[in-house]
Amino acid sequence: MVARTLDGKEIDLTKEQIDGLRLQVRGPLLIAGDAGYDDSRTVWNAMIDRWPALVVRCLGVADVVACLRFARQHNLLICVKGGGHNIAGLGTADGALMIDLALMRGVWVDPQQKIAHAQGGCLLGDVDRETQLHGLATVLGFVSLTGIAGLTLGGGFGFLTRRWGWTTDNVVGFDVVTADGQLVGASADENADLFWGLRGGGGNFGIVTGIDYQLYRVGPEIVGGVVAWPASDAAGVLALYRKLAAEAPPEMTLVTFMRLAPPAPWLPKDIHGKPIVAILACHTGDVAAAEKDVAPIKAFGRPVGDVLVRRPYAQMQTLLDATQPKGRRYYWKSEYLPGIAPALCDKVIANAAKIVSPHSAIILFQIEGALNNLPNDHSPVGNRDARFVLNIGGSWEGAGNDAANMAWARNTWTDLKSFSTGGNYINFLTEDEGPERVAAALGGGIGRLAEIKKRWDPENVFRTNRNIKPR
Ligand SMILES: Cc1cc2nc3c(=O)[nH]c(=O)nc-3n(C[C@H](O)[C@H](O)[C@H](O)COP(=O)(O)OP(=O)(O)OC[C@H]3O[C@@H](n4cnc5c(N)ncnc54)[C@H](O)[C@@H]3O)c2cc1C
Repeated sequence: MVARTLDGKEIDLTKEQIDGLRLQVRGPLLIAGDAGYDDSRTVWNAMIDRWPALVVRCLGVADVVACLRFARQHNLLICVKGGGHNIAGLGTADGALMIDLALMRGVWVDPQQKIAHAQGGCLLGDVDRETQLHGLATVLGFVSLTGIAGLTLGGGFGFLTRRWGWTTDNVVGFDVVTADGQLVGASADENADLFWGLRGGGGNFGIVTGIDYQLYRVGPEIVGGVVAWPASDAAGVLALYRKLAAEAPPEMTLVTFMRLAPPAPWLPKDIHGKPIVAILACHTGDVAAAEKDVAPIKAFGRPVGDVLVRRPYAQMQTLLDATQPKGRRYYWKSEYLPGIAPALCDKVIANAAKIVSPHSAIILFQIEGALNNLPNDHSPVGNRDARFVLNIGGSWEGAGNDAANMAWARNTWTDLKSFSTGGNYINFLTEDEGPERVAAALGGGIGRLAEIKKRWDPENVFRTNRNIKPR
């Protein structure tokens, strides 16, 4: 079996060596051709097509430690897969030993302390499902099939960000397997430098096998959903969005997007495939107050669809899942915005009219609020001046359509990027984005991250990520 080493060379692993690792782990060890191998090696974005030499689907922390020690013994390249949702495919690598955490999805909730302990392979929906049993939640993202680890280590934002900040601002502690195969804790009181680095520095410092999150009372019933209009109403809808976003209490998060109408049951058939503009709202405050706050959205113009209603918070957290299936081709361009300028709205409308795929969208997410109140060096996620996220989301089928769709996303970005704060979200960076974009995402924190890297991973064992070189 040919595998790749940390220095980029190829080595032959013997059958005895591979069987030796198989005996040390409880989870399945898979190679190409084994049932389950393809599920592990593939990721959400079908633009990524990589073939790890070995995959271990770890069943617990001891499996992770065994894999890491085996990799160190043979100087193997490793990759760590959480939810496999990273658009750049950072969870998979050719010739590597893949440490796949997909079977480590336990969640334990302490409702008195309001803490959830989640294993490193959990998806967002795993955590919401268990915490909502107690009417609790933490800050997670908009699509329930995303991995918690990649999302949290890169920052993380969602419908609760306006109230409680980046996801990573709500981490109380991590369990981490370090480069030398030790299991350590990282929190404000224990290995504080590692704790700082993990809250934005990605998978650079170790394999996170558990995360403790601060929980808050949320729902279970909230007011949320989408209202859509024909794109011909976009100027008015985006002006409404700007006004309502400026007035919205922190309990209400507003997202707007423009795309071609999907064939969804809540939209009439005659609008399917035609351009629309929509506002997605989630209000997690008092339900009566929420209904008042969303009323201007529902009353505006003549919507073609309206499913902005009382619903369970856990359901709200899955509302967008079907729009982002695994196996399509995706290419994004993204920026943080300090606000929504009228000129930006004009450009959104103009570029949405040039969309070349039925699945693509231009999206504006409101995130302003709690995250803006912490100092920039609170953690490397930084970007405390970000108030909205712009995502130009290219999404299509068939490699033959790559060029046209990527060109649309790039051209739209070129037209819109002057509205940026200068920062961008590291977890939205595609494979072709270079070090200058990573530096823009991490702001001034890179120097401190490099020092932490030197202490915890001097040989750069963890490199299939937005890599920070030890210094
Ligand atoms: C459809 C979709 C919707 C999204 N929505 C949001 C959103 O609403 N909010 C938001 O903030 N982000 C969102 N994202 C971005 C998301 O945060 C990133 O894609 C993130 O990288 C996903 O994490 P993952 O564990 O699934 O990734 P993976 O692809 O598994 O891994 C990504 C990186 O994290 C590392 N990693 C993963 N698990 C571990 C671990 N346990 N220990 C150490 N390193 C690890 C990997 O090695 C790799 O470098 C979305 C992404 C998609 C595809």
